[in-house]
Amino acid sequence: MPPVNRRKTRLKVLFATPEIRPLVKTGGLGDVSASLPAALMKAGIDVRVLVPGYPGVMAGAQHECLLSRTELPGVGEVKLLSAYAPDSGVPLIIVECPAYFERKGGPYQNAAGHDWPDNAQRFALFSKIGALIGSSANPLDWQPDMVHCNDWQTGLMPAYLHYIAGPKVPSVMTIHNLAYQGIFPPETLAATELPPESFNMQGVEYYGNLSFLKAGLFYANRITTVSPTYAQEIQREPLGFGMQGLLAERSAVLSGILNGIDEEEWNPWHDPYLVEPFHGGRLKGKAANKRALQERLGLAVEPDVPLLGVVSRITHQKGLDLLLATADKIISAPAQVVLLGTGEAALETAFRTLAARYPGRVSVTIGFNEALSHQIEAGADMFMMPSRFEPCGLNQMYSQRYGTIPLVHATGGLVDTVVDVTPETLADGSATGFVFGKESATEFLAAVQRALSAYRDQKTWRTLIKNGMRRDFSWKQSAQGYVALYESLMA
Ligand code: ADP
Repeated sequence: MPPVNRRKTRLKVLFATPEIRPLVKTGGLGDVSASLPAALMKAGIDVRVLVPGYPGVMAGAQHECLLSRTELPGVGEVKLLSAYAPDSGVPLIIVECPAYFERKGGPYQNAAGHDWPDNAQRFALFSKIGALIGSSANPLDWQPDMVHCNDWQTGLMPAYLHYIAGPKVPSVMTIHNLAYQGIFPPETLAATELPPESFNMQGVEYYGNLSFLKAGLFYANRITTVSPTYAQEIQREPLGFGMQGLLAERSAVLSGILNGIDEEEWNPWHDPYLVEPFHGGRLKGKAANKRALQERLGLAVEPDVPLLGVVSRITHQKGLDLLLATADKIISAPAQVVLLGTGEAALETAFRTLAARYPGRVSVTIGFNEALSHQIEAGADMFMMPSRFEPCGLNQMYSQRYGTIPLVHATGGLVDTVVDVTPETLADGSATGFVFGKESATEFLAAVQRALSAYRDQKTWRTLIKNGMRRDFSWKQSAQGYVALYESLMA
């Protein structure tokens, strides 16, 4: 029998996102919104990325061309432009609205770090435009089969689709971090122009307020998040952040699809930031990068002392207080520690103090530094992520690709990407790192000690390095997961 031709035409997906690297990025969502649509395009999907026309987008997008124009009372001119993302060539649909999006400052905050007071109006408009494109009122000559929404800024889109009259497409809502929910006072509802009856538990209301994310989670046809384990965790306390009831109720349409990594940017064989390239069959270069890192950061150049790395936002979420609590014991093992990050002032100070106490053994760099983040991944022996929660996490995947053994808390995407060392996983070739179960200093330290003793057994250590470097964390697999989801939605 000939193979079944499941679709005669390409599936068309409007991928709506408030960020896309390199035009605008405040976190992991910017990376995902660049790589995932590119991977979807390669997988045969006709994808267009709907993005607000911030200054970075207006300046960096290529070959802009007007698609439609309208005038909104109190807002002014709103245009839809077609364009292309600079690196990938992914087609964009830009919402050009100078009154809302062309401002100095960040996408959500002004230069002083305060939220824009009209964030609800800005992202309600963005969501409404996405919904219009998915309805029979679509002003474009391209009609998507579905809309794919990402995080709270797009959360009202499924709600608008629900209330728009006439034919309309289904929606997918993806959660990249449930801690950010887009919550506004109840009187904001009027500005969104959603009907008053939408403001109840079976709608956009959330403990007396309006929640954009809850709206998305309630009205979307499918919900996804960025790892299978996080998809389970958010259906319970404490990681459900108040949404656990709704998510558990909707578990039949909720799934986790693991993020991929950019395998070109994170490739130790072609990484411009490294002093010497390396790969699984040629690890000599890794030792050279360790030496260069120790020299660069003023650490004692000791090839045989294990070097433990961290690159992270320094926030409560990331669990780095466990490292502070156990640092004396770790350093006296002996071991060296190198940390790069920015975040909460008290934690930053505590790490600076630690570095001052251990010159030559501990290096702390406060700041954002792309080059150093690559150099730490390449030069460290182990990489620590004691996160309290981690929707997916990227660094544990970069680490494995760079032959740096991850040491992680058993949460979210960390569980799905790191295989703990046990006699069984060593025997079957799957072991890639060290995983600790309970968020406590004692368990964290026990995992570090397990890792330090494995390090002293060079044969085991090389096995772990090679196991990790062989893993496939490409976007190709993740894109297949989304394609299957889209197809299930059309069935
Ligand atoms: P999150 O999105 O919660 O911050 P992820 O692990 O998903 O955590 O992604 C963080 C990304 O930001 C990674 O690519 C990491 O290397 C990078 N990063 C975090 N802090 C810094 C820093 N100070 N300098 C350079 N890169 C950083």
